[in-house]
Amino acid sequence: MKYLDEFRQRDLAQKLAAAIGAEADSARSYNLMEFCGGHTHAIFRYGVQDLMPDNVRFVHGPGCPVCVLPIGRIDNAIQLVEAHDVILCTYGDMLRVPASGRKSLLKVKAAGGDVRMVYSTQDALNIARNNPQREVVFFAIGFETTTPPTAVAIRQAEAEQLTNFSVFCNHVLTPAAIQNILESPEVREIGTVSIDGFFGPSHVSSIIGSQPYEFFAEEFQKPVVIAGFEPLDVMQSALMLIRQLNEGRYEVENEYTRVVTREGNRKAQHLVAEVFELRRAFEWRGLGLVPYSALQIKSAYAGLDAERRFDVPAIQASDVKGCECPSILRGVKKPTDCKLFGTVCTPENPMGSCMVSSEGACAAYWSYGRFRNADALPAIKVESVA
Ligand code: SF4
Repeated sequence: MKYLDEFRQRDLAQKLAAAIGAEADSARSYNLMEFCGGHTHAIFRYGVQDLMPDNVRFVHGPGCPVCVLPIGRIDNAIQLVEAHDVILCTYGDMLRVPASGRKSLLKVKAAGGDVRMVYSTQDALNIARNNPQREVVFFAIGFETTTPPTAVAIRQAEAEQLTNFSVFCNHVLTPAAIQNILESPEVREIGTVSIDGFFGPSHVSSIIGSQPYEFFAEEFQKPVVIAGFEPLDVMQSALMLIRQLNEGRYEVENEYTRVVTREGNRKAQHLVAEVFELRRAFEWRGLGLVPYSALQIKSAYAGLDAERRFDVPAIQASDVKGCECPSILRGVKKPTDCKLFGTVCTPENPMGSCMVSSEGACAAYWSYGRFRNADALPAIKVESVA
């Protein structure tokens, strides 16, 4: 398949591994944070860590949209169903994320609540069109990649005067979260998290471009390489980060040139700017309240904002006792540091969002099983499809 197969070739992976081994300075370490869950899964699926020298380490970041949503916002969604009798439309991953009191949207659905899994905002609009007597709320989550389709849905609903449709907006912003991590005490003062450089998100950057990362590359003196999601993308980007660090540079470079430009998708950016504005602060699981890190619907579209249409109170909720998702999302701990990992908590019985989501770090560790017997892993795990 074009743009996939050529980025999974074994011989090229071996050459890149050799180049990284040759260029990585054995006198220092390289701690490279992949912000995106997509990169985490590529690293685990293809065994990329096993191809790195011991001093090149991947640090997992908070870039999983399901994982970073605090439990209180899921409690809000459940309240919309139980107290306001809405049809709640949501992406599949959200259904199984544990909420307060061992509830989840899936359990609410099993108990008779009208929760429907959708694949797109257009599915949610269709449900609203087909149920004019019912209130339909789209539970919108995600980073900059999924925001434009939500903006399109809001404009469509406005144009059609679809008065029974609204959006519970939980869209969050990547650069603010990266800045929050770099300013965190663990990175700046205590030193429990070492980050030398970042793999920049690929899909997010196709919308916002590479330009927004330039500020903190300069300010915090950390190199950023926008990386695609295939194993050779990750390896090439690791090599580019290592070269920058060796040369004392901290620039934004773009490995994913087949999709990402410096400016990004202007049309999508204008669409988002027309419908959304910055929230003053938004709570992230693991990061706490992060200033200007999320979007809310502009007052021009107030009628389509579920938070203005219904009573949606701020809810402070705690994670399941023993769940280390907050520390994992900050890069402080690994999934295997959690006592519940693989015992109480599995994909069949998730205790936290990081085990539910297809982009979660715990799910990546569990699904590809590389924690089980690392010594027995063969040297090359990249699939050869050439
Ligand atoms: S293994 Fe489960 S309980 Fe532990 S951090 Fe991951 S999601 Fe939370």
